[in-house]
Amino acid sequence: MNQEEIKSIIEENSISYIRMQFTDMLGDIKAVEIPASRIEDALENKIMFDGSSIEGFVRIKEADMYLHPGLDTFLILPFEDNSVGGVARFICDVYTPDGKPFIGDPRYILKKEVEKMRGLGIDDLYVGFEPEFYLFKLNADGSVSTNCSDKASYFDLSPFDGGEDVRREIALMLEKMGFEVQASHHEVGPGQNEITFKYTDVVSACDRVQTFKQVVKMIARKNGYLASFMPKPLNKQAGNGMHTNCSLYSKEKGDLFYDPNASMELSAMCKKWITGVLRHARELSLLTNPVVNSYKRLVSGYEAPIYACWSDANRSSLVRIPATRGPATRTEFRNVDPCANPYLALAGILACGLKGIETVEEKDVIPPVKDNLFALSEEEIKVRNIICLPETLHEAIQYFKRSEILKGVLGEHLFPKYIEAKEREWKEYHTTVSEYELKKYLGR
Ligand code: GLU
Ligand code: MG
Repeated sequence: MNQEEIKSIIEENSISYIRMQFTDMLGDIKAVEIPASRIEDALENKIMFDGSSIEGFVRIKEADMYLHPGLDTFLILPFEDNSVGGVARFICDVYTPDGKPFIGDPRYILKKEVEKMRGLGIDDLYVGFEPEFYLFKLNADGSVSTNCSDKASYFDLSPFDGGEDVRREIALMLEKMGFEVQASHHEVGPGQNEITFKYTDVVSACDRVQTFKQVVKMIARKNGYLASFMPKPLNKQAGNGMHTNCSLYSKEKGDLFYDPNASMELSAMCKKWITGVLRHARELSLLTNPVVNSYKRLVSGYEAPIYACWSDANRSSLVRIPATRGPATRTEFRNVDPCANPYLALAGILACGLKGIETVEEKDVIPPVKDNLFALSEEEIKVRNIICLPETLHEAIQYFKRSEILKGVLGEHLFPKYIEAKEREWKEYHTTVSEYELKKYLGR
């Protein structure tokens, strides 16, 4: 879309507000809203905001930041209250006052890795996310609860109350907004759902998943539910993952992971890519699983991975290769959860995968595992040299801090800021007395 087309869409659809949106370091969506009459200013990159109050942005003395709207991200938001005129949005890149991309902008950080990938002759990284979420009933006063929307389980068709209708309404809204919804189904946990939409290039995929979460939350709330993307909201129930399907693509050769003549029909590039990611999986954890609660999901027995290994079918591995081959050959990263900042997680995965492609020799690629790892003893795991993922946020921070490759990805601005924020979070958790402790020790 060009500027003129956008202006006429705004006019034709009586859009009165435009939301200029971006994502902060922690993955939260931030936005400045402007009246549609300021569209010229927006298109000339003149909309400013104060970066000093946004997590991971700038210090006080250089607070002004400029928003550069991506024309291809223009979207009418039909789920917003349209009684005072419609709302549309742009996803923006963040620029400094001297006209340079802001080095701490997660979207820019991802774009830089995409540039490096192009430098290697790879045209695109295609990404398809599979976000999972729970629907919990809101209390009569609007406060949140953890009462599930139903008692159903995996692929059940008729949950016992409204959860299914809400899921369908979400899927229809997404379609209306241009998402190509692939499937929606009930997940394993009570009130747990999954909606998947078509893969696209990595930056758009991250933009989309941010929008997706907004839509899911809005529609759920309208129907009296809280949609929760918390990685492990309920004890002894399945957690919320956000499986991330990746494939590398070249205009000339198609899907670069497919090789009909190789073992498992997976190209050498694919195996090196997997090896690169697995070698750095522990460091990557702080990006793919960034909150205290993420590590309560990564435990054995709930289809979430705890080992850095790969296989063609096994759901206990971090990387699974779905059965389809040909142009749909892809690697599914099963560790990622919906609290991840998608731009940073993908920038990290891409950098580690590319490093694998560039530096790993064919004889050194990590072989796939065939067994169900959950059935093996700790001893057997050790003998096979299989790496365990961090068990706590604290452990993940330690790996991350030592990571040269991720220091390079996040850059000198964001790397220390990210660590600082995560250490603060850990300390806050670590020094809080929990319900578990009270139950267990109060009477001692
Ligand atoms: N909910 C599982 C997780 O925590 C994944 C289930 C599935 O295979 O879709 O990752
Ligand atoms: Mg699922």
